Amino acid sequence: MIPYGRQTIDEDDIEAVIRALKSDFLTTGPLIEQFEKKVAAYTGAQYAVAIANGTAALHAACFAAGIAAGDEVITTPITFAASANCVLYCGGVPVFADINPRTYNIDPAEIERKITARTKAIIPVHFTGRPCEMDEIHAIAKKHRLVVIEDAAHALGAEYKGVRVGGLSDLTTFSFHPVKHITTGEGGMILTNDETLYERLKLFRTHGITRDERFLSKNDGPWYYEQTELGFNYRITDFQCALGISQMDKLPSFLAAREDKAHIYDEAFAGEANIEIPYQMEGCRNAWHLYVIRVKNGKRKEVFEQLRGAGIAVNVHYIPVYSHPYYRTHGYGDVCCPNAEAYYGECISLPLYPGLTEEEQRYVIEKVKEYCGR
Ligand SMILES: *Cc1c(COP(=O)(O)O)cnc(C)c1O
Repeated sequence: MIPYGRQTIDEDDIEAVIRALKSDFLTTGPLIEQFEKKVAAYTGAQYAVAIANGTAALHAACFAAGIAAGDEVITTPITFAASANCVLYCGGVPVFADINPRTYNIDPAEIERKITARTKAIIPVHFTGRPCEMDEIHAIAKKHRLVVIEDAAHALGAEYKGVRVGGLSDLTTFSFHPVKHITTGEGGMILTNDETLYERLKLFRTHGITRDERFLSKNDGPWYYEQTELGFNYRITDFQCALGISQMDKLPSFLAAREDKAHIYDEAFAGEANIEIPYQMEGCRNAWHLYVIRVKNGKRKEVFEQLRGAGIAVNVHYIPVYSHPYYRTHGYGDVCCPNAEAYYGECISLPLYPGLTEEEQRYVIEKVKEYCGR
């Protein structure tokens, strides 16, 4: 099977992990901060907190942003469930705003329509690696005093109007799951330019416990620490960060390879009547986490099954979050975003990752054309 995404691990990466395993620290050691500094420097954000996974990163961001019981947070239905679950973890209420039918990203006009007196934050998701309309989203946030948390799990290396995603908003989260741009096995990171948010993120990662003199109510002695918030154990290990540091060196080549392969798909499908290729965007850099086509002849299911049958592990990203049984039975039974539904009925994610060979891609293109042409 040709997967839709997979990691690229080389000997340098393996040696970096082995060195970490032989060092004094398996966790809570110096490689955590080294990895954080590397990603912060790359994205241009001031502070970074490495964490157990991308979902924990979103949870931590919601905590730092002060999301609490009854707070509404607006996000897109076309995303992984974690983008909305993180709001529920904090007692908040996810509110779904429909997507733009061309970009498949959350539509700023739809965000505006969903704002109420209880809205506290917006979680835009840079779906497939294409940056959302951040100027418009920031303007809405400013007008209504909302926190912006970018779910950038698809967008490490993406650029919005010449600026890398990571330092644009109050908080930005990344995932380092193996299908993402770089991997640590499981892992994630939150970036911010705000020192207060940074301190809250670190607290949340380690049980809400601090030893920092500045935050203690008293000090009984050198052993002393205090739990000041209800946090979690969301730490990442040093050997995972060793892998992350090594992977970061290859990110530019990973991004270039993804972009090249995306353009090969674009050209191959440009003249196909039954295939809609991704919207061609100007002024922003797409990080190309996913390459999604829309099958326009009403036969997405058949095409999907045929591709799987031909050894191509295509996927569907995503089932609208509100339509999962958990959401339907928790107050979202009547929610419907028409653009998201239309998109969901036609989308297929094709294989896209740096290690996809020319031969494999040619085979994928041939089969996609064959099955969509019927
Ligand atoms: C992968 C992903 C996450 C969650 O990341 P994990 O590291 O798997 O927890 C969150 N949001 C989006 C959009 C993702 O693709």
